Amino acid sequence: MQKDTDLIKQKLDIVDFLRSYINLIPAGKNFRALCPFHQEKTPSFIVSPERQTWHCFGSCAEGGDVIKFVMKYENIEFPEALRYLAEKASITLQSTNLREEREYNILYDIHAEAKQFFIDQLEKHGDIITYLKNRGLNDETIREFEIGFSSGGEALVLNLLNLKFDVADMVKSGLAYKNKSGLYRDRFDGRIMFPIANAIGKTVAFTGRILKDSETEPKYVNSPESPVFNKSKILYGFHKSKNEIAHEKTAVVVEGQMDFLMAWQSGVKNTVAVSGTGLTNFHLEKLRRLADTIVLSFDNDSAGIKALERSLDAANEFDFHTKVLNLKPHKDPADAAKADPAFLGNAVKNALPAFTFLFDLYFNIAEKQGDMAIKKRVLRHLLSRVRHVRSGVERNQWVKELSQHSGETESVLIEELENLPAERENTLGNAPGNESVGQNSVATKTTGDRTDAIARRVLALAFTHPSFWDTIREYKERFPESYHAIIENPESGQNAVFELYASYIVGKGDEAELKQELMELLKQLNIEVLRKRQGELRRDIHKAQENGSDEEMAKAMTAFQSLANELDNVVSNTTHAKKEKTGA
Ligand SMILES: [Zn+2]
Repeated sequence: MQKDTDLIKQKLDIVDFLRSYINLIPAGKNFRALCPFHQEKTPSFIVSPERQTWHCFGSCAEGGDVIKFVMKYENIEFPEALRYLAEKASITLQSTNLREEREYNILYDIHAEAKQFFIDQLEKHGDIITYLKNRGLNDETIREFEIGFSSGGEALVLNLLNLKFDVADMVKSGLAYKNKSGLYRDRFDGRIMFPIANAIGKTVAFTGRILKDSETEPKYVNSPESPVFNKSKILYGFHKSKNEIAHEKTAVVVEGQMDFLMAWQSGVKNTVAVSGTGLTNFHLEKLRRLADTIVLSFDNDSAGIKALERSLDAANEFDFHTKVLNLKPHKDPADAAKADPAFLGNAVKNALPAFTFLFDLYFNIAEKQGDMAIKKRVLRHLLSRVRHVRSGVERNQWVKELSQHSGETESVLIEELENLPAERENTLGNAPGNESVGQNSVATKTTGDRTDAIARRVLALAFTHPSFWDTIREYKERFPESYHAIIENPESGQNAVFELYASYIVGKGDEAELKQELMELLKQLNIEVLRKRQGELRRDIHKAQENGSDEEMAKAMTAFQSLANELDNVVSNTTHAKKEKTGA
């Protein structure tokens, strides 16, 4: 990989390249600009032609090379950024993995040709265009989102063979399959085709919608997963709507392509569709970089509410403000937009906080039943949702509102919240939620920040599983000083209260699982330490900038850069570990 990145950096001068994105003003040897990654009035984004790096010494404190810039600006992953830049620099990637590169390009080409073929097919089927218009889509939307039609049989296979593609690659793309008689056939048979693009706008898959609803065939069929298509990572429409999402700081999440297209057409352009997967952590991670608010829509039935609650829990873990779209009296966003083009815009503006919506919904049900047992169950159910809220302030606000709804006092609800059975997969996310339990009983002075929450959880694990102390001692320097005494001498009588607290919050638990959690927590501590050091360097850079000292500046920026790389490594390792865990 090293060679490719070097080649790209040789060919693309960072100053020239960034000029196509932002307005650069000369400043001594460097250039300055308004940072594109945070709101500011005075430019604190600096580009160094000498080092071919950029760095923001304002509040976002980001920095890196041209590749990192594209990843951040276009919201794409490293391999995508590499491909994108290679295209811009007109170089062929020399990656050790030439085969994979070739495969990607062939799959991109097949999808591009297939898309054009489907568009041509649609033009020949006036009846289907009429059908799409009856559903509410106009010509412009059909063109912009490159909707097509697949007549099926072997029409596409023959077309691609004429273009000299290999059948094996067609099968790999998911567009063709080999039937029982050994013949290659089109996967999509008599379906309206919606191309699905990745973040850099390349078509990587399709969704095919059946023409007439049928008992025997699914309404929607997606391309199978392929080297270029991972369903749980791609959001339909994201490559078109990402700028609008960033601008509004809000993402409207709908369920299907038609919902997306009708929302877009009616002017609600900060929308994405999850098309049959539900919101995944990948999706949320991607959206969180652009938005702080998420507006969820759902089908108004019990399956829809369950799906809504799952998305809500996940979104709260990512610290989003969550809202719910009120579609009444319409069935879904597509219907609403068709009936009244102004409807969705207003519904987004008036979207209720998700918890207000849920509280109303459940208490209406409970009141109708008038039963104490049901009320208790409802309370517990709602508290389990509130528990996923990351911000303590916000959590308290919902407890307060829940208290008003239910007539229970806040303290009863807080007690209930703390006594909810633990959800194993979220032990880390819940650690800060234990703050109120025994805060004063810990034998150390705590500041109540994230480092403390993590450190306390680590100690709690070790008090219940003393074999962990050896590992913890190895990483002692990652802990705030106030914890060093405990770590060195856990047996000291002073820690008795803490021990009790530990057995209360950790319980018995599976040792291997807890060990895994311990390693994750130690990594998290490392991240906090690196972030703090980064903050110090940021101040150094700021000072050097003020003093006009190029030398100090260069030193601090180099240090900052290597720290940023280290942090990147640690963070991505962490995410991988987590993904494996949730995938299991
Ligand atoms: Zn910035």
